[in-house]
Amino acid sequence: MSNQILHDHLDGGLRASTAKEIAKRIEYKPINEIDDVNKFFDRSNCESLEDYLEAFTHTIALMQTFENIEQIAYEAAADMSDNGINFYESRYAPFYSVNNTLSPVDVIDAINSGFKQAEKEKGIISGLILCGMRHDHANVKAVADLAVEFKDKIIGFDIAGPEYNFLPSLYKDSFTKISDAGVNITIHAGEGDGVHSIQDALDNGAKRIGHGVRIIEDVNADNSLGQTADYILKEQIPLEICITSNIHTNMYTDVYEHPIAKLYDLGFNISLNTDNRLMSSTNVLKELEMAKLTGIKNPLELIKYSASDSFLN
Ligand SMILES: [Zn+2]
Repeated sequence: MSNQILHDHLDGGLRASTAKEIAKRIEYKPINEIDDVNKFFDRSNCESLEDYLEAFTHTIALMQTFENIEQIAYEAAADMSDNGINFYESRYAPFYSVNNTLSPVDVIDAINSGFKQAEKEKGIISGLILCGMRHDHANVKAVADLAVEFKDKIIGFDIAGPEYNFLPSLYKDSFTKISDAGVNITIHAGEGDGVHSIQDALDNGAKRIGHGVRIIEDVNADNSLGQTADYILKEQIPLEICITSNIHTNMYTDVYEHPIAKLYDLGFNISLNTDNRLMSSTNVLKELEMAKLTGIKNPLELIKYSASDSFLN
């Protein structure tokens, strides 16, 4: 059987042991001074999105050399493989790791080198989606240019960061350029912002939607569908669902409130994903259990490899 993960952030998935090891190596104080690294990063009870995002400043601080990035990418793919995944799509905002000694393409090469090593050892196929940070105009533009220039080294383009007030259409020119270059697009939408953000993502060339759970707001009480939901269902646009992450960013109070099972029953193209394994202290196996709790009988179906959904082919 072949299984896939479509939505997982490289800087959100470090092993706690590796965070500690690298922190020691580079003498990174905020982590060196604490005992329980898992607890330090765990944002399952965080009060705000700011609190959640603060954790990333620390993982990114550990991703500033070729070797460290390579190790983190290798381990991410290896851990996915150990959870039964054969096709792993990882994403990262490359400019977070650019510094005096590391160029944007060095960052991409370091990640791909780690992925290749995991492929050689474990057979898992991995690929990198570049993320532009949508609250930073110059960043999105620069990442889009990078994606076009090095399109043979990557598998896709995404925009991440705060959705509200930062619709994809702000970057219409970049998305057009990306589409014209033949680079696959997925866009975070329908998590921090509503149905209109999903429609806006589709209008800007998204072949998949990151999260997209709020498409449920376009499903009426009698299960009739609004225009966007109707399109997503008919065209079977993949929704990259991340249950635990949605609960940790306070979209839903608990797993039983999550709409994944309803979307699944209505026939939407649902996949199950991990988003940020370290901050949400989750992994593929835990997400499968979460899906089961929502009432989905055979959650393995939600990670089954689909050539039409994957950017890896
Ligand atoms: Zn995400």
